[in-house]
Amino acid sequence: MDTERLIRDIVANVISKIEAGVSGNPNASSSGQVMSGKKTGAQEGSSQKKIVCGVSVRHVHLCREHVDVLFGKAYEMQVLKELYQPGTYAYKETVTVVGPRLNAIQNVRVLGPLRDRTQVELAKTDCIILGIDAPVRPSGQLSGTASAVIIGPRGAVYLKDGIIRANRHMHLCTKDAEYFGIKDNDAVDVRVAGPKGLTFNNVQVRISPDYKSEMHVDTDDGNAADIVNGTFVEIVDASCVSPISLQMADGANTPPQIPDSSFTGEITDPNILKSMNNIALDPAGKSAGLPERQSANVQKKTIITTGDLDDYKDNGIEVSENVILSPLARDEALKRGIKISYKE
Ligand SMILES: [Zn+2]
Repeated sequence: MDTERLIRDIVANVISKIEAGVSGNPNASSSGQVMSGKKTGAQEGSSQKKIVCGVSVRHVHLCREHVDVLFGKAYEMQVLKELYQPGTYAYKETVTVVGPRLNAIQNVRVLGPLRDRTQVELAKTDCIILGIDAPVRPSGQLSGTASAVIIGPRGAVYLKDGIIRANRHMHLCTKDAEYFGIKDNDAVDVRVAGPKGLTFNNVQVRISPDYKSEMHVDTDDGNAADIVNGTFVEIVDASCVSPISLQMADGANTPPQIPDSSFTGEITDPNILKSMNNIALDPAGKSAGLPERQSANVQKKTIITTGDLDDYKDNGIEVSENVILSPLARDEALKRGIKISYKE
C-alpha cells in the first residue's frame, strides 16, 4: 500500500472513530454539546450504526483428533498472536488444503482455540482454485458441507465435510446491540463507503457480552469493497429490493450461466490418493520421511473409491475411523445396492 493511501485511510478511520465516539455514546446529548437551533451531532448520529469490519483470510479450526494426525500425537499448538475477538488467536502452525482438482493452497492458518469439529473457511476464489463447491454457512453448521484433504507436517486428513464459506456476520457486544436495537440472529444490511462502496445483505448478527463489536467478511467480500481490517461500516436498512427487470422477466432473454461444471466433490487422482496413504497412513512413516518415533501413533487407513467397489459387493462396506469412503464411491455403492454401515 502506498504511503499516501495509508495516511488517507488512517485519517478516514480517525474521523470515523471520532464521529462514532459522539454517536456511540447514548449520553452524549446531555454532555453540553447542544448548539442553538441545530441538531447536535449526537442527535444526528443516533440513527447511525457504525462498527469496524475485519477481513477473515482463509483459515482452519481443528479438533484435537486432527491435530494429532496432522502435527503428531498430543502436539501442543503454539500461539502466534491474539485476535481482536477475545479468547481467539492465530496459531503459528499452518496446513495445506487440497481439493479434487489437485490444486493445493498452502500456509492456511490454523486458528484457536481447538474445536469439537474441524472446519475450513474459504472464500469463493479459494473454492474455485481448489474445485470445491463449499456452501455459505454460519460457523459450526457443517452437515452436508464440502470435502477436502488437509495436509500437515505429520499426516493428512480427509474431511468428508467441514469446508464452508463463512456467512457474512457481525459480532456485537450486548451493550451495542441494545443501543442499536438489534437482536441476536437478526439479519441486517451493512453499507460500505468509498469508490468501491456497496451494501452487503444477509449479515447475521451474533450477540454476546464477551464480543467486541466487529463485522467479519471473507477476502472476496473484503476486496470487492476495498475493506481492510478496521474499516468502518454502517448498519442500514436496505430493504428496498427492486423488482426484476422487464428484460430479465422475459423468458426469451436467458441470463449468462455461471460456469460451475468444474465443481466436483471427488478426489480421484491416483497419485494424491497414494500420497495420502503414504503421508498419513503408512505405519512405518518412512515413505514420507518421518522420524520413526513419530509414526507409531499413525494408523493405517483404507480409502475406498469407485474402483474398489467390486471388493465389497458381497460383504458390504463398514465405514469407520480408519476406512474412508469417497463421496462418489458412496453414491455408486448405493446405486449398486452394496450395503454401507457406519461404525462410530
Ligand atoms: Zn466472526
